[in-house]
Amino acid sequence: MRTVAGRTDRVVVVGAGLGGLACALHLAGSGRQVTVLEREPLPGGRAGRLALDGYEFDTGPTVLTMPDLLAEAFGAVGEELTDWLDLVRLDPAYRAHYPDGSTLDVITDTSRMAAEISRVCGPREADGYLRFVDYARRLWQLERTDFIDRNLDSPTDLLTANLLRLLGAGAFRRLQTKIDQFFADPRTRRIFSFQAMYAGLAPHDALAIYTVIAYLDSVAGVWFPRGGIHAVSRALADAAEKHGVRVRYDTTVTRVETSAGRATGVVTADGERIPADVVVLNPDLPVAYRDLLPPSSGARRRLRYSPSCVVLHVGARQGYRRIAHHNIHFGRAWRGTFDQVIRRGELMSDPSLLVTNPSRTDPSVAPPDRHSYYVLAPVPNLEVGTGLDWRGDLPRRYADELLATLERRGYLGLADSVEVSRIVTPADWAAAGMAAGTPFAAAHSLWQTGPFRPGNLHRTLSNVVFVGSGTQPGVGVPMVLISGKLAAARVTGGNR
Ligand SMILES: Cc1cc2nc3c(=O)[nH]c(=O)nc-3n(C[C@H](O)[C@H](O)[C@H](O)COP(=O)(O)OP(=O)(O)OC[C@H]3O[C@@H](n4cnc5c(N)ncnc54)[C@H](O)[C@@H]3O)c2cc1C
Repeated sequence: MRTVAGRTDRVVVVGAGLGGLACALHLAGSGRQVTVLEREPLPGGRAGRLALDGYEFDTGPTVLTMPDLLAEAFGAVGEELTDWLDLVRLDPAYRAHYPDGSTLDVITDTSRMAAEISRVCGPREADGYLRFVDYARRLWQLERTDFIDRNLDSPTDLLTANLLRLLGAGAFRRLQTKIDQFFADPRTRRIFSFQAMYAGLAPHDALAIYTVIAYLDSVAGVWFPRGGIHAVSRALADAAEKHGVRVRYDTTVTRVETSAGRATGVVTADGERIPADVVVLNPDLPVAYRDLLPPSSGARRRLRYSPSCVVLHVGARQGYRRIAHHNIHFGRAWRGTFDQVIRRGELMSDPSLLVTNPSRTDPSVAPPDRHSYYVLAPVPNLEVGTGLDWRGDLPRRYADELLATLERRGYLGLADSVEVSRIVTPADWAAAGMAAGTPFAAAHSLWQTGPFRPGNLHRTLSNVVFVGSGTQPGVGVPMVLISGKLAAARVTGGNR
């Protein structure tokens, strides 16, 4: 494994996103002197917090999987996850609502889930589900150690026995084709393939290797930290500070200073120069190259970005008994919806939406007798959706349209009971420094996955490391926690 060159005692981490914080913990655990510089007044980056009139909204991730990776980050400094966070396992993990009025609970206990599928879709479908679980679990085992949880220096690192096993398992076929081998009912086909969107692709374009995302959230389990996902960001930052990491908020880095092929420190917006032996960059990777690194410091390649999303935060008087913590409301359209968002740059005409209702699990995130809703709608990123002007009155019109769609799908009286709302659009993600106005980074197409994804070691600056969703292994909370560990290993020469 390649590592940074030279001294590594003083490390400056730019950004207190989950990737930056995980990296800081692993570095602190190995005795480095770490300073984290964060532009915002709070930690977490995309896993941030929006407070509106007594409502506390998570701004980004809501579906937390693989808490063992969080435990690993705390464990790097000798801390126990359970001393820092109160994680509730969600049951069901999701409730799927279909256009024919039927619902299917996604339960992460396999035998109860088989019974649920049998109830809704019949026993043959439940058999297919059991075969799917075996298949997806196997893929996860084959992929995790060799390809995800490991620093890859070159494509030849992929040549392991597990690659042959994955080929044999059909993991490089299309995800939808593979899912259709297990399921015949359109409802199960959708609930076990929509996760391709988390990788930035339509299920008919993504590779079956991404079945592991469905495995992680539909089989391995989904958790909710009391206080919301931002509690994770806060806990990681506090644990880091307890173990000597200096976290400086409201500190924007404007450039990385370099000399003779090395970073020598960073410069902040206030003109302060902070020297460093190693600089770890957590801002979105293409933006870090564009804004923080010297123009000559390495070839930037053209990336294809994931679709973006609109998030509508709603605090309301009205509650709904028939929903769960996480709800997916599928439209009738399927393949056409992906084409609209990913290829044609249009808004979904018959939307599929994620509605999260965190106040159901933790009433403390809303005022008494009030309810919080987080509505996520996939929309084109700014490179594809050039015809959508998010700076005009489109956000307000789209918020109204989303509320009207939800009313039609059973949220009766929601629009009239709204007390607070806020819509976040691709223009906002772009303003926060996310390339192409998407919070989901470069799509996980084959040539942007594994060793083909931008690497976490700068090509020419021998002591600059990247961390977060723009680099390997990729997008999502579990992946950026792993990226934190992998970035730290580039500094310490640890065993990844
Ligand atoms: C709406 C939404 C929904 C999501 N849903 C899920 C989900 O349900 N499950 C899941 O697993 N993942 C989800 N994700 C993805 C997940 O949140 C991200 O992949 C992950 O949080 C990215 O972490 P990161 O460390 O790469 O980057 P970031 O969180 O972006 O961290 C980068 C940090 O760097 C700081 N920074 C940037 N520039 C500077 C500068 N110049 N100086 C100082 N600091 C700077 C930023 O303020 C930020 O704190 C979602 C994301 C969003 C936005």
